[in-house]
Amino acid sequence: MNGGELGGLAALVPDLLAGRPLAVLTGAGISAESGLPTFRGPDGMWEGRRAVELTTPEAFAANPKEVWRFYEWRRAKLREARPNAGHVALARIENVISRMTLVTQNVDGLHRAAGSRNVIELHGTILKTRCTGCGVNEPGPDAPFPEIPPRCACGSLLRPDVVWFGEMLPEGAFEAAAEAASESAVFLVVGTSSVVAPASSLATIAARGGAKVFEINPMLTPLASGADGCLRASASAVLPVLADALERGAA
Ligand code: NAD
Repeated sequence: MNGGELGGLAALVPDLLAGRPLAVLTGAGISAESGLPTFRGPDGMWEGRRAVELTTPEAFAANPKEVWRFYEWRRAKLREARPNAGHVALARIENVISRMTLVTQNVDGLHRAAGSRNVIELHGTILKTRCTGCGVNEPGPDAPFPEIPPRCACGSLLRPDVVWFGEMLPEGAFEAAAEAASESAVFLVVGTSSVVAPASSLATIAARGGAKVFEINPMLTPLASGADGCLRASASAVLPVLADALERGAA
């Protein structure tokens, strides 16, 4: 891919360099190239079950051990994973332009690992646990838990510090994301199927606020018909080209 293939996004590079705000929403697709499975692609299965069925409060209440086995499998994959060129490009872009907010639905911490600073994690992180009894929130161990389901010092079950389907987002996270979306001049939607609410509404909020909305996803999603442009390629192919164009323009 080269700069010309950024389509209408290339024309917005000067605006971003002039300080008009960029907001980016990422989903599981940006981490797929780091070896972390998405939920809705063909890789969205775990031991014959759909991953989305295991990420609910009901699944945890019914079988905390099974849900924790799924999370231990994900945590093990994450220990081997490194940020890919897509994550790194977003950190490079933040270094070049003055206003950028990165909103992610991912729970893998790879944006911060790549060097992104202004990150809103809408769905929490699997790097931490939260006690279902006393509410204490702590980093999980770098190694597997000695026993699952793990327990807090208070005796109650620990759970991953993530937002499951049907749960509220962390306080203030969606409000901050919606503000960034509505103020943005350019809104990029990267690697998300755009079906998980309320994150899926951010593109509409951005468009209503006057942003140009671009999607980066190799597959068609429900967002496509309302977007100003769709780049049907992987995040690691498109984002480094955008970072190169911004760095060239800033030099
Ligand atoms: P999703 O699984 O529903 O959709 C992933 C999207 O990424 C698909 O549209 C797919 O076409 C696209 N995609 C795949 N490879 C890509 C690539 N290389 N570049 C760009 N796009 C690519 O993911 P979602 O919309 O984020 O929703 C799933 C929910 O599950 C989220 O709430 C998220 O918290 C969670 N989740 C997180 C992770 C993670 O943290 N890495 C992984 C799986 C699921």
